[in-house]
Amino acid sequence: NLLVSTVKGKWVLKISNIAEDPAVIVAQTRALIHLQQTGLQDCVPNVMKGKSGEEVCSHVSAQGRHCIRLLSFLEGELYSKIQKTPGRLIEVGTFLGRLSRSLSSFGHPGAHRENFLWNLDHAVNCESYLTHIEDGNNRRMLADLLEHYQKRTLPRLKYCRGAVIHNDVNDNNIIVFTKNQQPHIALIDFGDLCYGRQINELAVAMAYLLQGEKNLYEVSQQIVSAYHRQFPLHEIELDVLFDLIRMRLAMSVCISSMRAKSFADNDYLRISQQPAFELLWRMRSINPAFMTALFRSAAQLPAVREHHEIVSWLRSSKLNPQRMFDIDLKTSARRVLKLDSAVDMLRVEDFGDLLTGEDVYNNTAFLIGLYGEARNVYQAEQFASVVTPERRTVHLGMDIFIHANSALYSPLAGRVYSLADNNLPQDYGPTLILEHDAGDANLVFYTLYGHLSKTTFDLLDEGQCVEAGQLIGHVGKFSENGGWPPHLHFQVMTTMLDLKGNFNGVGEKSLLSVWRDICPDPNLITRLAPESFDEYKGISTLIEQRRRLLGPSLSLSYRHKLNVVRGSGAYLYDHTGRQFLDCVNNICHVGHCHPHVVDALLRQASVLNTNTRYLHQTILDYSKRITDLLPESLSVVFFVNSGTEANELALRIARTVTGVKDTIVLDWGYHGNAGATVEISPYKFKRKGGFSKPEFVEIAEFPDPFSGRYKGMSVETGFAYAKSVSACVDAIRQRTGHGPAAFIAESISGVGGQVVYPDGYLDKAYQVVRSAGGLCIADEVQCGFGRIGSHFWAFELQKVIPDIVVLGKPIGNGHPMAAVITTNELAGKFANGMEYFNSFGGNPVSMAVGMAVLDVIENQGLMQNAEQVGDYLLFNFNKLKKKYNKIGDVRGCGFFLGLELVESLETRKPAAELAGDIVNDLRENAVLFSTDGPNDNVLKFKPPMVFSMDDADFLVDKLDASLSKFY
Ligand code: PMP
Repeated sequence: NLLVSTVKGKWVLKISNIAEDPAVIVAQTRALIHLQQTGLQDCVPNVMKGKSGEEVCSHVSAQGRHCIRLLSFLEGELYSKIQKTPGRLIEVGTFLGRLSRSLSSFGHPGAHRENFLWNLDHAVNCESYLTHIEDGNNRRMLADLLEHYQKRTLPRLKYCRGAVIHNDVNDNNIIVFTKNQQPHIALIDFGDLCYGRQINELAVAMAYLLQGEKNLYEVSQQIVSAYHRQFPLHEIELDVLFDLIRMRLAMSVCISSMRAKSFADNDYLRISQQPAFELLWRMRSINPAFMTALFRSAAQLPAVREHHEIVSWLRSSKLNPQRMFDIDLKTSARRVLKLDSAVDMLRVEDFGDLLTGEDVYNNTAFLIGLYGEARNVYQAEQFASVVTPERRTVHLGMDIFIHANSALYSPLAGRVYSLADNNLPQDYGPTLILEHDAGDANLVFYTLYGHLSKTTFDLLDEGQCVEAGQLIGHVGKFSENGGWPPHLHFQVMTTMLDLKGNFNGVGEKSLLSVWRDICPDPNLITRLAPESFDEYKGISTLIEQRRRLLGPSLSLSYRHKLNVVRGSGAYLYDHTGRQFLDCVNNICHVGHCHPHVVDALLRQASVLNTNTRYLHQTILDYSKRITDLLPESLSVVFFVNSGTEANELALRIARTVTGVKDTIVLDWGYHGNAGATVEISPYKFKRKGGFSKPEFVEIAEFPDPFSGRYKGMSVETGFAYAKSVSACVDAIRQRTGHGPAAFIAESISGVGGQVVYPDGYLDKAYQVVRSAGGLCIADEVQCGFGRIGSHFWAFELQKVIPDIVVLGKPIGNGHPMAAVITTNELAGKFANGMEYFNSFGGNPVSMAVGMAVLDVIENQGLMQNAEQVGDYLLFNFNKLKKKYNKIGDVRGCGFFLGLELVESLETRKPAAELAGDIVNDLRENAVLFSTDGPNDNVLKFKPPMVFSMDDADFLVDKLDASLSKFY
């Protein structure tokens, strides 16, 4: 090559050896022109044509014919001479991608060079050069590589694209130049151009570009991703790329060693091998399977081909992981143990020493070490790598800290893939890896259990099948588990990366996207609720905020306050994930967050929610459906948003229709929290912070067959109590000269302490009131909607038909809605010209919810459930009553039950303190109960209607234990 410099510019005059095949020269020249024409005009030399337009001229000398070309000289710096930066690498990768894109549409017969030494497609030829490698270690390393290449790479090559490639992109052929103040990349020396696997282009370039780089992972990622953006790589190409990079290096050292033999005094040949050998040795520390994953990830593919399929299998409802410990991780209290900087951890030998006071208080059964957490302090320097200066710090599994020797069960069926003792300090100790099938797609994945006890080795053998739920080991002690506080390291792998016995439990932060595809979140199997991983501010913070933001008049249940974060069916879950059996929430009637109701709500809320001033079918459908469940006369519905509002409206209807205000209420009755309802609620105005009975209110004696003046459930008792209603009517008449507007009563008294009235009581009371011109209002806010099991409405127990029925709480399963239902006649009289408008009442979302609630009650047979389980509970509560004489009375029906606690059966003195103690003790034992009644001595049972027989057993068991504790 001659540099031709003139005042007009610089050129390179290339005079070829006569041995060069002119067809090859023509192919090179045509390739340059093709690149010029397809977007790379500044990036490769220009071909200067001869006088008669020839691209390749020739000169015939005495020896023969030489091809002669004149190319433009590219100004710039050699890549080998400049400072390498990540930005530069991306530019080179981008350039390479453009080069491949352009060359993929180029072809020339001269590029098909038979027996061309430097064609990577013929790398097997290197085998014959191995003898030229002097150093035994080097030779063996290369022999290994060749064997691997022949076994694994060669069979794959035929699936890779072919193209003409430059084939020698190295840092002395790459030129960096500046144009318009921007750095650009150019390429020279097309002398090794040939047809081969197109991926060879990238492999050759990377074999050079990686030399001397500190972080092989990062540089590889950058080049591949930049290349891929310009010229998308095929999966098979990504799969062989690492092998080909190493083969190019091997080829290069083999060829130069062979040449060194022929030119024994040419030291340069041997010295120039050094960086290639060094890189080859460093690459020995790279797991090829991991490198393929990394390349795939750099090319925007899942790092593991089967990742998506495996993860969707792990997510599917077909997979039903069994519990892994004797405790149920899903329902036991836990806490996240932050391990990102807790160095002292390595000195903690017992699980108990990890627990804080608050853990003990919360009954914390296990602690979680998070997946994806930074583990900066545990990575010993001994893991320092020649591949990357970056330490592996991100946790790829989930830790479950629990007592040593806890039995461990397999969550899934599978086979023992490996069982090994990784007994270096801070390693896994005894480690089990199981292999599992992922559905029927011929896919497998793996689960790893680290830090087990040595007893595990006696339980299993490699290759053995394991059933879901089978005992597979025990949690190891500090002395055997690698020197950790007892815990299980649980990890899922979508590939074993050709490893056995051990597997990285932490990965490089910068490679997290690769690691996450290899090791997906183990919670796909443990399936703990999302809140399990939340950070928690602490009960006291919440209490303080609540006091400040919500004012002091709100109360909080239990001495040991409860932070509930999730509900499902008959269960509530606190912030620690602990499951509580809900025996109190009669509002979430068909179960907490019932999917059918939630779905109906979501669906309607995403379509329309507006007021009732437009026609809408759903409100009519729901009104028809709910009135069909009531006696025929109760046929007109008013929709409101709460029980309080419903009672307010019921009063307003009664008072408007009768033209008078006076109202008879039951002692201890509660009907709402707003002005008019507090005025008719002795439960409120007679107690702390109350006021004297309003003049227009008359209180009828509470018809309590256990603690009241008249005992028993007979009609006589009922009539005796009804006399008090009669007395109220008389009092009103005496004071005003007319009868009452209304008599309002719950059909079974809830706030009064689950008091079922004696027979005939309401019937007689209604007669008395009606004969004085008053209306009868049944408050079914607590006891309606099938709760009592035998009947849909509690007033049916008393064989009465009210004039107005008030519905609330369960009607919307927690969605704020309520209703007042009355007769056609009363609705007509109420329409005195004043419009009834309610912004929210009767909106389409509420109506859809109401419908869904009724669907569930009917379709899940919840009334029957209430009757059966309720009877079973009554039977068992009565058994407890025989055992504990402080249970004075067991009463109620269906899922509306009460246990009244007394000092003694003789005195029937309320045992309020005992009731409080029991409710608080039950809370500690995961059962939520409340007390009610005028003296707060009635244990009140009104659970979601999905409460099961098993739940009943659990409750009776815990109640028995609590009672025995306080006796
Ligand atoms: N009536 C009764 C019998 C109730 O128990 C309640 C609520 N405890 C109400 C009315 C008031 O309902 P809300 O809280 O929805 O206003």
